[in-house]
Amino acid sequence: MAGYRAPLKDIQFLLQEVFGAQALFASMPETGEVNNELISAVVQEAAKITEGLLAPINQGGDQQGCQFENGLVTTPAGFKEAYAAYTQGGWPGLTGSVDYGGQGMPKMLSAIIEEMAFAANSSFALYTILTTGASLSLSLHGSEELKRTYLPRMYEGAWSGSMCLTEPQAGTDLGMIRTRAVPSADGSYKLSGSKIFITGGEHDLTENIIHFVLAKLPDAPAGPRGISLFLVPKILVDAKGNITGESNNVQCGSIEHKMGIRASATCVMNFDEAQGFLVGELNHGLACMFTMMNYERLSMGLQGNGLAESSYQLAAQYAGERLQGRAPSGIQQEDKAADPILVHPDVRRMLLTMRANIVAGRALSLYAASKLDISRFHPDQNERDVAEQLVSLLIPVQKAYCSDRGFEACVMGQQVLGGHGYVVEWGLEQNVRDARIAQIYEGTNGVQALDLMGRKTVRSNGKLLQLLVQEMDEFTAANMNNDRLQQHLAIFEEARAGLLHCTTTVLSRALDNPDEIGAASYAYMELLGLVLYCFMWLRILTATSSSEPENGYPPDYVDGLVKVGEFFMHRLMPRAQSLAAEIEAGAETLMSLRAEQF
Ligand SMILES: Cc1cc2nc3c(=O)[nH]c(=O)nc-3n(C[C@H](O)[C@H](O)[C@H](O)COP(=O)(O)OP(=O)(O)OC[C@H]3O[C@@H](n4cnc5c(N)ncnc54)[C@H](O)[C@@H]3O)c2cc1C
Repeated sequence: MAGYRAPLKDIQFLLQEVFGAQALFASMPETGEVNNELISAVVQEAAKITEGLLAPINQGGDQQGCQFENGLVTTPAGFKEAYAAYTQGGWPGLTGSVDYGGQGMPKMLSAIIEEMAFAANSSFALYTILTTGASLSLSLHGSEELKRTYLPRMYEGAWSGSMCLTEPQAGTDLGMIRTRAVPSADGSYKLSGSKIFITGGEHDLTENIIHFVLAKLPDAPAGPRGISLFLVPKILVDAKGNITGESNNVQCGSIEHKMGIRASATCVMNFDEAQGFLVGELNHGLACMFTMMNYERLSMGLQGNGLAESSYQLAAQYAGERLQGRAPSGIQQEDKAADPILVHPDVRRMLLTMRANIVAGRALSLYAASKLDISRFHPDQNERDVAEQLVSLLIPVQKAYCSDRGFEACVMGQQVLGGHGYVVEWGLEQNVRDARIAQIYEGTNGVQALDLMGRKTVRSNGKLLQLLVQEMDEFTAANMNNDRLQQHLAIFEEARAGLLHCTTTVLSRALDNPDEIGAASYAYMELLGLVLYCFMWLRILTATSSSEPENGYPPDYVDGLVKVGEFFMHRLMPRAQSLAAEIEAGAETLMSLRAEQF
């Protein structure tokens, strides 16, 4: 059975026909040169790398895993060579700042490449994505000197990055971290403490690893307001940006044995008076992390979507070849002992659910990425501000909803293969294991939902949602006469109205009972996710009515998209009603059981 193939037609259709990426990039001077030809060339090159270089070492990497010995981590066979080829292709610096050797490409473009990399080999993708996140923190918050010293080598891929937040007693609640940073006479700091679960904290792919570490000064205020961010190299670096060879008292204590992403090293990292450099202002470490986290969390939604795509491809092909039973409407293949399982409505239910959510999830990820680009590059301050507010609303939904749907799709893909989905050979059980983590790290999905409901909705009194609704209204007003949308606009309007009604209900209940926020949060995140997927499908269906065969979209391809969109509207949108009912049910039945009754 064929390996992963980058879904180039779907990607191009979204970028060019649905989001008009070329026109968007042209409206911002810093991305003005990114035209359709360049987008196509980059995406096709990324497809070659992910299909030809990363996918072939995915299964072996899972089986071999990372090895730990004497503080050193060895990645599985083929990873070093693949990483070398990846860096030679210039991929690590794709979105990096041009002032320090990066290529300054928009997030919208790199997001789709991340999805491909996660689909082909999630463990490998993590080494590169952590470096992108770390270098972004540095470029946004670091001093000029730090940027000049570290960024060029990180953009080259010669040095990788890690994010060291979590400690044994401090996961979601980072205010409880104990890692200490003591000021030194030369302006640097001595960091001591232990971090756990650090992705890429130690490995053999690069000559240096630059850790971004959250720590507290001895006299820092208690809780989250006393956290600062430090850059701590594994091997010390001189002022010219060359490694000195002197190690910096940073040791990997062990690596975790995990359910999935087994070729990604998840490390315990011990800092023993390691030299660190402040990034951003003292006690503002969490704020620095949050700017970067919007990008990192987007990646986790893309991981879910990418693995869903890879599962879909296998499952769809299998369903066309596996012969079992006969079509309920009559024999389809007389010359065969049975019909392919694709004839069965229930198999189609699984495949169409997968595909409808994958396409919408990809569209939502690109939509959120476009807002990240506008918030960063748009010449108009007002446009930047609105986009930034939309980013803060969209990212927790994209992270949680896409990673949930992604995991669900991987399980469905496994189900399509029956017993063969459960055995290692086909790779679908690996996808299930690899997709699971995206629901947990970078803030669990429960915590994303709480962030959406509490901070982004209740605390803003619904203002951020209003901005999104305004975009939705503008779109529907502009396209209300489009024939292809007619039967779907009412479905969308009903779900949107239900969402607004639920928002008002929670806003008013939260005034009297703070538990109402957490009680509504998960279903609310899912409802907003579903409404956003619906909004994405409206946009896709609109684009199908104007796309041209000469642009590479033959009528059969477009017809297929329309049918998947219709499935989404009629078979998946009804869930909006049950989610609204769940939200309306309120906190009482959740909170009435006493602790000792659990
Ligand atoms: C493979 C892997 C890689 C990782 N990579 C990194 C990395 O590179 N860097 C790094 O710093 N960390 C990393 N992590 C850590 C990861 O981000 C945390 O595991 C995650 O944020 C959750 O923290 P926790 O495990 O301590 O769970 P806890 O915070 O203990 O949460 C346990 C449960 O309680 C819920 N919960 C907690 N607080 C609340 C609340 N206030 N309201 C509602 N529910 C709540 C959570 O949703 C969850 O269901 C990684 C973890 C894994 C497993």
